[in-house]
Amino acid sequence: METPGSQSSLHRANLERVLKAVRMAGSLTQAEIARSTGLSAATVSNIVRELSEAGTVVVTPTSSGGRRARSVSLSGDAGIVVGVDFGHTHLRVAVGNLAHRVLAEESEPIDTDASADEGFGRAETLVARLLEQTGFAPGKVIGVGLGVPGPIDVETGALGSTAILPGWTGIAPAHELSQRLGMPVRVDNDANLGALGELVWGAGRGLGDLAYIKVSSGVGAGLVINGQIYRGPGGTAGEIGHITLDESGPVCRCGNRGCLETFVGARHVLGLLQASHEPGLTIPKVVQLAQRGDLGCRRVIADAGRQIGTGVANLCNLLNPRRVILGGDLAEAGDLVLDPIRESVARYAIPSAARQLSVVPGTLGGRAEVLGALALVMSEMVD
Ligand SMILES: [Zn+2]
Repeated sequence: METPGSQSSLHRANLERVLKAVRMAGSLTQAEIARSTGLSAATVSNIVRELSEAGTVVVTPTSSGGRRARSVSLSGDAGIVVGVDFGHTHLRVAVGNLAHRVLAEESEPIDTDASADEGFGRAETLVARLLEQTGFAPGKVIGVGLGVPGPIDVETGALGSTAILPGWTGIAPAHELSQRLGMPVRVDNDANLGALGELVWGAGRGLGDLAYIKVSSGVGAGLVINGQIYRGPGGTAGEIGHITLDESGPVCRCGNRGCLETFVGARHVLGLLQASHEPGLTIPKVVQLAQRGDLGCRRVIADAGRQIGTGVANLCNLLNPRRVILGGDLAEAGDLVLDPIRESVARYAIPSAARQLSVVPGTLGGRAEVLGALALVMSEMVD
């Protein structure tokens, strides 16, 4: 039996630290592994040799700062991970390996709010089809990351609010999908997965602290602190959409008044353009019109940006993140929405917190959540 602190348990712990660092980064040089794990160069070198001989990692020659180095990544057949992302209007599935390669990915339109049963059925079919495409047997799958557009109750695993996906009332999404696929499933909300996706694959690579803010029909934030998603004991950390901007403002779906979401959520933004623009507008269309110079669309996007910026300033004062990454449909407007956010941050945040902060668009677009679902498996389901 191993006792904590014994040589072999220490070795195992070091091995796991090295593996996790490589898994989350995709590939690292031995010097980078030493820096991010705090282990000595000699220990890292020994562990990498052991893992390489076992076929767990692949070592390839590379150069770092003009010097020869050895790049370490996980072997491509070390295991398969699956990501399933439910949006309000789409289902997206990706199959990848632990070396950060996406092997197959597909998205299809779906009315997620209508029926959970139909949604899970479609997900089951799509996962099976993509696995077949990659040629990997279901038994190779280490785990499935599942994204849903609403808060998850940590204790019951059910959706924390019945107002968001009425067709999903009483359903524990991870349990349901796990039953159908016969695979272990870990669930999280879309904003947390977007944050993980951008952290591992996108605009947040190499950072330990960031906030990902998703603005679409609702508004939510995923918070990464010291390289980990911060969820809070109830799983509701990051509900930035429900900070109060105006106590006597419009009533929000959460029951309060004047929440950030009531000023920047899709329904509100589209409502502002109802009298002046053609019917059938969507946020992507509004963004497109704004980029072509439509003044009304530019104005509502800028106003939304200023309001989001107030929320970001509060977040910045509380958590002092290095970077805020904007995702969701509105992020596609680029500087039309980002500049007003930056102006609000400059006005309302404490100068020392604001100085260190950069506000940038996500680089993954609509793929952030499904890639985050893959990263969720890599970070929390692999031993
Ligand atoms: Zn609210």
